[in-house]
Amino acid sequence: MNDHESNDELIDKLLEKIDLEELVSKVIDKQKQEALKAAPPEAWFLGPKAEHGEVWLATIDHILRDYIHWRRNYFPEDPIIVDRERLKSHEPWVETLKGEIDSILNQLKAHFPFYSPRYIAHMISEQTFPSVVGYFAGMLYNPNNVTEESAPITASLELEVGRMIAEMLGYNPRKAWAHICSGGTLANLEALWIARTVQFVPLMVRDYCESHDVRDFGARTPDGNSAPILELSPAELIGLRPNDSIGMIRALAEHMIGRVGDGVYSDINAFMAQSRFNVAHSGLHAIFSETGLKPVVFVSEAAHYSIRKAVNILGYGEDCVRSVPVEPHFRMNADVLKEKLFGLDENLYVAAVIGVAGTTEEGAVDPIHKIKFIRDELETKKNRSFWFHIDAAWGGYVRSVFTGLGLEEDGDPRKPLKDICEEYKNAVAISEETEVRLLHFEENGMNEGHKKLHLEWADFEVYSAFLAMPDADSIAVDPHKLGYIPYPAGVIAFQNKLVTELVIQKAQYITDEIGGIKSTEKEAEVTAVGPYIIEGSKPGAVAAACWLSHKTIPLTYQGHGRLIKTSLLNTQKLARYINLHKKLFDTIEYDLYGQLRPGIQKFTFEILCEPDTNLVCFLCVPMKDDKDGELVRDGYFKLAEINELNESIYKRATIRNRPGKRKTPYSQEFFVSRTILTHEQYHPGSISGLLEKLDFSIFEYEKNGLFVLRSVVMNPWHFLAEKQGKNYLYDFIVNLHQIARDILNP
Ligand SMILES: *Cc1c(COP(=O)(O)O)cnc(C)c1O
Repeated sequence: MNDHESNDELIDKLLEKIDLEELVSKVIDKQKQEALKAAPPEAWFLGPKAEHGEVWLATIDHILRDYIHWRRNYFPEDPIIVDRERLKSHEPWVETLKGEIDSILNQLKAHFPFYSPRYIAHMISEQTFPSVVGYFAGMLYNPNNVTEESAPITASLELEVGRMIAEMLGYNPRKAWAHICSGGTLANLEALWIARTVQFVPLMVRDYCESHDVRDFGARTPDGNSAPILELSPAELIGLRPNDSIGMIRALAEHMIGRVGDGVYSDINAFMAQSRFNVAHSGLHAIFSETGLKPVVFVSEAAHYSIRKAVNILGYGEDCVRSVPVEPHFRMNADVLKEKLFGLDENLYVAAVIGVAGTTEEGAVDPIHKIKFIRDELETKKNRSFWFHIDAAWGGYVRSVFTGLGLEEDGDPRKPLKDICEEYKNAVAISEETEVRLLHFEENGMNEGHKKLHLEWADFEVYSAFLAMPDADSIAVDPHKLGYIPYPAGVIAFQNKLVTELVIQKAQYITDEIGGIKSTEKEAEVTAVGPYIIEGSKPGAVAAACWLSHKTIPLTYQGHGRLIKTSLLNTQKLARYINLHKKLFDTIEYDLYGQLRPGIQKFTFEILCEPDTNLVCFLCVPMKDDKDGELVRDGYFKLAEINELNESIYKRATIRNRPGKRKTPYSQEFFVSRTILTHEQYHPGSISGLLEKLDFSIFEYEKNGLFVLRSVVMNPWHFLAEKQGKNYLYDFIVNLHQIARDILNP
């Protein structure tokens, strides 16, 4: 405490910090969340047999009637333009339309049953009730969230959704800035686009200082010192801490205000708009030739291809991507990242380091915390920083499990990460009763009964990664994946909302905002999304969908987190079934006469790795008995044949939708998806452990790749179905077992 300050001053200061309105809304929110705790995830969806059908019908009916009445009651003195006579004359056309609707409804039955617990394939499942009705209501009014003028309500809902998601990700929602976009692809592009803008700001500022002969403007350097900006090299300027670069034009204005007075903002803004280092104005090539530097982007081998699209669009070229090898869990190998960052060529700069929280193929979570530590170390030892982006398009919502536990508040910064993880581990751990069939092979014999399955990650890596997420400068997350929201819904969140000042676009008909900075004192109030984003017209309906869903299913441990936990548990369970395949299934077969079938081909399923999130990759491998009666891989089958085997399994557990060759999914018992690991993407060194375990040579892998089956476990119904005596996950493995048996023993 500062003893020069009087008590009154202190109290004034405290009061300034307390926002009464916010406090009240927090209390109300808490109460609502308490009430919502009572509703189990089963209430949130239509249900595999449309069990909530009646209430859905009634709600949609209510929304539509309400909307119709709104039109009816608007200017009752206006004439009825389409009178009954006319209505009658429209009937033939309406009949034609109805016929076409029937035809579409008929055709849509060839659709995958995403909602079904039998669908254990891609990153899609049920949509929440509030998101569907929110979307429907929003759609009727058809707001365009590019500007508040065409979206008076949904534009502010979008900002609120941004704050909800920022909070889930661990950002301070008052300092962060997040908005909805079409999906993870756009979210990643926008993150790197903003990063690109931010990086060159110090060059622009230096240019200003040079041309205005400002010799005493200093910049904070990543190592904690400061230096006159004129003394810093382009590489040093680009490598400043992102948050320092974001605020640098403001800092310059503050510095200049004493000298120039009121005109300072327009002077600075005008200079920056025309700067040769303003990438939006001059293009990337101008900056490259001025600085002689080229960008690199670091991301794991398991990155989504949207990262390549983004660097392609941004003008970096896909060649700038430095793939960091993965370790056996398919998480980025942080040691290699560190080595590459510390040994970076002089003529290169880091445009971004991207951690993936939930890889698309394996669901793996990169060591986000380690990337943060590496950045800290690079700052102090090498005086360089970088933009840290997280692609959490898949795994972002898993963070709801870590939110609302009341552990954030008492965050003591000196507490070791291990202890914090331990706290979270205890708080997050849940258990659910599950059928004994799962575990009795692991335990003591064949006891019947029930058994509890616990959710916990085996090591602290995943906890640490999720807890470190708020340290990133930007995070992409997809509501249309683990948010259970209808397409198209992605979100990009920035830790520092001041980035908006740097990218504002002016179009007189969408915004009154003027470009650049307006003041150094006022906190930037971001009241619109349109001026700061890549997209133009965008559906307000999806903002209504996200808002209603997240409002009624809070993004916390007690709300959305329950859904995530259930699906994580189910994933661990499915992985156990696959691991136990050898024991669960008798691979000895009898013929119709009860005779042992000779020459039966044995096989088993192997998982690629224990899942970090709700995704399991696995493959079927032919086996044989060795001389001790142990099951070992049958070396008769080469990798190419095993790939073929798994591809055939996949083909029988999906529907192929080629026009003219459609088959309805009714005959299809279960659905799985697939992916191929190739050496172009996954260096043999990265997966050598796996190849060794499966007894495949590197040569075979390089030649053929590895075809694997892939199951995303996000259906909300598996546990409940089990209580009704139907174990879909077990049956799924039975089904795959039968398919594999039939293929191997024709
Ligand atoms: C799905 C996904 C994306 C792309 O998101 P879209 O919404 O399909 O554009 C990007 N990154 C990861 C990790 C993903 O899983």
